Amino acid sequence: MSLKELHKKNKATNRSGQAVLFIVMAICILVFAMLWMVDVHRIIFLKDRSQNAGDAAALAGARWQATSLNFIGELNLVHALASSLDDDVSVDVITNTQMRISFAGPMTGVAAAQQAAKLNGIHVNEDFTSFMMEHADKIENEYGAIFNGNKALPEPWPGAWYEYADMVRAIASDGVAAGVDNAILYTDPMGPHPLLQIEFYEAVRGKNWCWFHFHGMHLLEEYDGYTWWPGLPAQDEQALTSPEYLPLNLRPIELKLSSVANEDHASIKAAEEIGIDLLPQEREDDEPLENWIYYNSGRWGSWDTMLDPSFPIEGDVRDEYNYQGADSVMRVEANSHRLMEETKAHDTIVWTGAAKPFGYLESDEGKATPNSVGLVLPAFRSVNLIPIDASSAPDGGSFNMKWRRHREYHLPSYMSAGPSALFPNCTYCKQLATWEIPEFRMSGVEWLASNSWKCVISPPGGGPSGGTRPAH
Ligand SMILES: [Zn+2]
Repeated sequence: MSLKELHKKNKATNRSGQAVLFIVMAICILVFAMLWMVDVHRIIFLKDRSQNAGDAAALAGARWQATSLNFIGELNLVHALASSLDDDVSVDVITNTQMRISFAGPMTGVAAAQQAAKLNGIHVNEDFTSFMMEHADKIENEYGAIFNGNKALPEPWPGAWYEYADMVRAIASDGVAAGVDNAILYTDPMGPHPLLQIEFYEAVRGKNWCWFHFHGMHLLEEYDGYTWWPGLPAQDEQALTSPEYLPLNLRPIELKLSSVANEDHASIKAAEEIGIDLLPQEREDDEPLENWIYYNSGRWGSWDTMLDPSFPIEGDVRDEYNYQGADSVMRVEANSHRLMEETKAHDTIVWTGAAKPFGYLESDEGKATPNSVGLVLPAFRSVNLIPIDASSAPDGGSFNMKWRRHREYHLPSYMSAGPSALFPNCTYCKQLATWEIPEFRMSGVEWLASNSWKCVISPPGGGPSGGTRPAH
């Protein structure tokens, strides 16, 4: 190759590199313009006004999940194009943008859900609001630091935790009307620690000694003060790659371009659909490893495995719709005041709506689930309401704010300072104070010594708290 030819080739590569950078910048601008311009009216018109606020809020959240997943998918394809042109600068910009969308997209969904609920006449809920505000402080103060012996969480981009805290705080300061019911932070950690089981406190309050008979005789017999408790399980140290509200459950994976864009891969076809001419890549020895955004396969399993037999759907779930991974569950509460003023009674009406992004990839064998190739690709085409039983919302306690506060804030201080650090206004702290009285525990041991034969396990299907019958 002559010097002139080489020069020409370099120039061509440069030009196409600049073109990619331009596309990326255009997409970034488009994404952020769209992300922060909350298009609620479209959602409201989708749901007729007469329908309820919880459904509208859930749809609003799911819509932004779908939008975010599609943008992240499109950026995976632009990444492949940039990478095939050796445009490292664009690749960096793309990966960074994807991580930001993973957070900003779902959080915009949370904001849109608030507007949807408010426009449907739901008032700001003080409990939801203050808890979200407290969580913003927690993110800012604890996520990037070593706190209570937990390691700092790795930041998805520099300064991410402050930006995430700001997003949460911005939504909370506007007032929360629709609570995100499937937020990661409302899922109790799976673990045998009695202090993290709401049933333990219920057993203490109801003197349900049978609960101890079945779930921990040693607690009654061996407990001798707060230092006896095993340590609380450490905070989940898995990297957080999307917000705890409306999580997308994605993760970056290091791969070479030729594994992402080869002839068999669905990415070539998906690229064609959005007008990118992506050529299959030959495998070369010196290919660099780059970060590609993939579905977290642990979370994007098949949908029908989480459906219990009472799931209200006739027949099988269609294959291309059979995946979990991202959904939006919103709870609204409304007070209806009774007409008789002097009673001061009111009924709280609670409604939880659930919705999910749906879509599919076209493959040679027909339609396939969006996550069928692992790599996130633009695949989501609609948003639909789903039954709450088929959502990822935890069974119980997701909006028991007293429990959340107890778990997040009271337990750590009790564990380090003992009963004097319990909060007198907290019902769970009160049960712990009762538990600390030796005579209380002794009376359980004595009751069980002659009455344990009365304890029977209740039949299955008795509701989420399940377990045992009350002893008294
Ligand atoms: Zn408490």
